[in-house]
Amino acid sequence: MKYLDEFQDPELAKRLLDDIHATATHPWAMMEVCGGQTHSIIRHGLDQLLPDGIELIHGPGCPVCVTPLEVIDKALEIASRPDVVFCSFGDMLRVPGSEKDLFRVKSAGGDVRVVYSPLDALQLARTNPDKQVVFFGIGFETTAPPNAMTVYQAKKLGIDNFTLLVSHVRVPPAIEAIMTSPDCRVQAFLAAGHVCTVMGTAEYPPLAERFHVPIVVTGFEPLDILEGIRRAVHQLEDGRAEVENAYRRVVLPEGNPVAIRMLEDVFEVVDRSWRGIGMIPQSGWRLSDAYREYDAERRFEVGDIHTQESTVCRSGEVLQGLIKPHECSAFGTLCTPRNPLGATMVSSEGACAAYYLYRRMQVPAQPGPGETREVTSVG
Ligand code: SF4
Repeated sequence: MKYLDEFQDPELAKRLLDDIHATATHPWAMMEVCGGQTHSIIRHGLDQLLPDGIELIHGPGCPVCVTPLEVIDKALEIASRPDVVFCSFGDMLRVPGSEKDLFRVKSAGGDVRVVYSPLDALQLARTNPDKQVVFFGIGFETTAPPNAMTVYQAKKLGIDNFTLLVSHVRVPPAIEAIMTSPDCRVQAFLAAGHVCTVMGTAEYPPLAERFHVPIVVTGFEPLDILEGIRRAVHQLEDGRAEVENAYRRVVLPEGNPVAIRMLEDVFEVVDRSWRGIGMIPQSGWRLSDAYREYDAERRFEVGDIHTQESTVCRSGEVLQGLIKPHECSAFGTLCTPRNPLGATMVSSEGACAAYYLYRRMQVPAQPGPGETREVTSVG
């Protein structure tokens, strides 16, 4: 297949579904790691086409959702300073910190700008030498390489009024944390194809072997996802636990060696907190010693900001697949995309936002505090 719409072909989708229905003899629970996959599943109703016993658990692979509240608060503090130009991708501007968001900082006079590449932020630093330009670097192995490259460029060009506020995370330690959780129900993973485009597949066989869990590298279009599910079901029914690449048109086993070298040069692996989940050992990156002077957290001395998560929001349980979004009592009542309580409702990749966008008419919200509302339980 050559064109994107071919990956939404209903005839091919039916063939894949027929195979899944004919193969599945047991109930199985599998986790799609990436928020982009979650949106595709809910948007196209793929989960509703599967055999009754096949459950898709929505994983923690939404970069905005897993960025800790205290990192958002650090961004807000830095962005509020008069000499700072704070640059970010647009999806971070509405993410609520403990008291406000970046839009509020902007409306109060802060110089907050949406950019489309970290290199745009570096260019701003170059043309505004009297300002401190900060780029908000969040996300997984997909967004980390361009941010690493920007810091590398800043050092090479001697641009010292540029810094990066870093909150990068890595998928394999999260898989390990999910599988060692006492509440874990995951029996197979649909790994995030774009992460593997950068990192390749070498990190996954030890996880598949240790936890006897199939890991299928999967893309994002409906046929990609159905093919990933089909392969996972075949493995589960056969009792196999292998790493398979169902996204060969994009993912090479070795990934992108240039990007990996850049990551290894600019970053070092550290323990990192994930919003709603907590600390996961070795699950993140920070700037390595050679580039530490470009660390915004150090330059602006915001390392002491510590914030408690909302007690109402259950996004941590959503991100671990322990509940579905509509099982949170705030879903659709106290918490909507217009007034989000948690990052999984803000982000376009968040599971709560996906359910709100595509399922809220089918899934009545649970009653908020003081409300009575009929609740339909769905799987
Ligand atoms: S519906 Fe809102 S409050 Fe509930 S888990 Fe999702 S983001 Fe948090």
